[in-house]
Amino acid sequence: MAGDNSMVCEIISVGTELLLGQIVNTNAQYIARRLAEVGVSVYYQSVVGDNQARLAGAVREALDRADIVITTGGLGPTGDDLTKETIAAVCGLKLVMDEATLEAISERFIRLGREMTPNNLKQALIPRGAQVLPNAHGTAPGCIVNAPGLKQIVLLPGPPGEMRPMLDTHVIPYLADKSGKTLVSRVLRIFGMGESAVEYALKDLIQNQVNPTIAPYAAQSEVTLRITALCSARAEGEQLIEPYIKEIVNRLGGVVYSLNDETLWQVCAGLLKKNGLKLAVAESCTGGMLSSLLVSVPGCSNWFTEGCVTYSDEAKARRLNVSQQTLKRYSAVSGQTAYEMANGIALRSGADAVLATTGYAGPDSGADTGLVYIAAGLGGDISVHCERLNGSREHIRYAACLHALNYLRKMLEKTDEF
Ligand code: ATP
Repeated sequence: MAGDNSMVCEIISVGTELLLGQIVNTNAQYIARRLAEVGVSVYYQSVVGDNQARLAGAVREALDRADIVITTGGLGPTGDDLTKETIAAVCGLKLVMDEATLEAISERFIRLGREMTPNNLKQALIPRGAQVLPNAHGTAPGCIVNAPGLKQIVLLPGPPGEMRPMLDTHVIPYLADKSGKTLVSRVLRIFGMGESAVEYALKDLIQNQVNPTIAPYAAQSEVTLRITALCSARAEGEQLIEPYIKEIVNRLGGVVYSLNDETLWQVCAGLLKKNGLKLAVAESCTGGMLSSLLVSVPGCSNWFTEGCVTYSDEAKARRLNVSQQTLKRYSAVSGQTAYEMANGIALRSGADAVLATTGYAGPDSGADTGLVYIAAGLGGDISVHCERLNGSREHIRYAACLHALNYLRKMLEKTDEF
């Protein structure tokens, strides 16, 4: 501990690229700033290449001087990623397979439609007894390892897009708790505005932040904004955060869809339930994914009546009454087909609200890959929207679901106002 009794942390950035000046050490700057904000002292920082002996030496020295050592980098699946092995050896701990992490990594590969190679298994190895820090934006998890002398070593990934949310979500609250303070956080979720546009709109708030802090992160097809206050009691923290939430919503408007870290499907569920409305969906390119997201909300039987997956033209005609003429003249991926799919499911289900999706999820659709039509209807009034989406097949399907849900949300919010 420091003379003033505050906790002392030391930062070690790992990577030969840093030593060669190929990349700028923004991680150390970000971590140092965050630590200062929660009253943790930092007296030393170091940079070490991907070399086991030199890293072990740096870790031992840091452990002599500090209560907690934070490392970034070297957690990936490749041969030069040595941080975990080295730290386990310094602490005299074995690396063991963490089953929950292994499952999370496999699920991530399935979701992204990518094949998991054997070296990815290495990322699920954790020094025995360590606390795992889930990686919401990548595969390599972080961890908090118990080191000799009742000290801890926090291992974070190198990519800033993974390191920052992991630090803010898991490590800062852990450190605040250790030093007897409280952190109060609110997460705003944004759809329809990119991370840089959000940052630009909130530039002055982000630059002048002290307490609370404001951190935007890019998530899959959306942006989240975490506002965190350091305080001695929860009520005080909430009071500090409230004016910032008002100001952010004022500036960004309708793209902010949740003030409490809810997903788009949870927000739609809440609005349908509140207004006593029923929803049915007809899906082509999303192939049941939209229904699956909706059904993940507990109690969905109160507002979700049915989902119809019609993949072939014949199924669209037979089950949803999409006309042969429409399919022939405009094709299955067209605004007209989306409209007739929505109309068909509305008539068949009798639901108040309907969604329909049809598009090219790729990857073999050439320039048309990512072209998606979405029809959204409420009380018989159906509107059709065209989106151009990017990424893998899975990503395009997921983004199509989010767009469809966002159109539904906007319609329901209008109804909710009256
Ligand atoms: P990966 O799974 O991507 O290999 P990792 O945890 O092993 O992640 P590294 O391989 O060390 O991390 O670094 C991956 C990338 O992250 C680097 O190429 C660089 O772009 C970025 N990065 C690493 N360390 C830092 C740092 N200190 N500051 C800024 N960016 C960094």
